[in-house]
Amino acid sequence: MTHDVGILFDAAFERHDTGPGHPERPLRLGAIGAGLRSAGLLGAALLLSPKSVADDVLHRIHAPEYVRRVGEHCRARKRFIDVPDSAICADSDEIARLAAGGVVEAARRIGRGELQRAFCAVRPPGHHAERDRSMGFCLYNNIALAATVFRDEFALQRIAIVDFDVHHGNGTQHMFESDARVLFVSTHGHPRFLYPGTGHEHETGVGAGAGFTMNITFMPDEGDAAHRSAMEERVLPALRAYQPQVLLLSAGFDAHADDPLGCMALSDEHFGWMTGALLEATADSTGGRVLSVLEGGYNLDVLRRCVPAHVRQLIEHR
Ligand SMILES: [Zn+2]
Repeated sequence: MTHDVGILFDAAFERHDTGPGHPERPLRLGAIGAGLRSAGLLGAALLLSPKSVADDVLHRIHAPEYVRRVGEHCRARKRFIDVPDSAICADSDEIARLAAGGVVEAARRIGRGELQRAFCAVRPPGHHAERDRSMGFCLYNNIALAATVFRDEFALQRIAIVDFDVHHGNGTQHMFESDARVLFVSTHGHPRFLYPGTGHEHETGVGAGAGFTMNITFMPDEGDAAHRSAMEERVLPALRAYQPQVLLLSAGFDAHADDPLGCMALSDEHFGWMTGALLEATADSTGGRVLSVLEGGYNLDVLRRCVPAHVRQLIEHR
């Protein structure tokens, strides 16, 4: 039994109802739960509880007007916010706050040394959410909030975020692109072919944050070999050079070959390998502290197989 690893997994996150036919659907969590359970991983970690995020924490990264608008849209039973992709129901603000607050609480427990690592199986996802608007199924930027916990509450000076979702983590990049205390690395399908159309390799940070944003893009159908080379030749050396004090992962599983929204061709095996390689490259500087947060991944079978492969590394990698 390893109890210095936490998993945030809760039925509440199935109450964010995106309506019929939406790929970011509650069944994703059922698939993840089934996979974690049959791999024996749910019992091998401490089960974390959702906790609603406070407004002042949300306001670190989101405009108060936007936070208010999310609440108002849900209370008014609007079907979406800002863009039709970002489908909502009456409960979505409450659930998105539980997701964000659960991630914040996991980050705090890691910061206090009560946990070494955590995986948060939350929805809605967060990495497309901008300061003042929703994009791509995302309401509040969960991983960005976690970064502010380590930066603002624990005064860490070097926080690394690696986003391996097939889509560019535009919201996260924009929130930290001028801050050298957060290194943001995103691997994703080339913006010419894939949503959201940002994340070109020439986007490398702004002002004091110049050099602390890294975008690595892939052509359609590129798979394990290309992604592995990019990891070994660019991502892992950048992490070793930065010496992060904590590693945050925007864990999307939509770069898998069988994902209906992605354009890449990663295999099942790649997700476990990549997680182990990221942990290995940062273990000395982070002391093993890792917080991983679910982003995309829309094929239920892929989620059932690949999320456990990722979580197994978080639990067992030493
Ligand atoms: Zn995605």
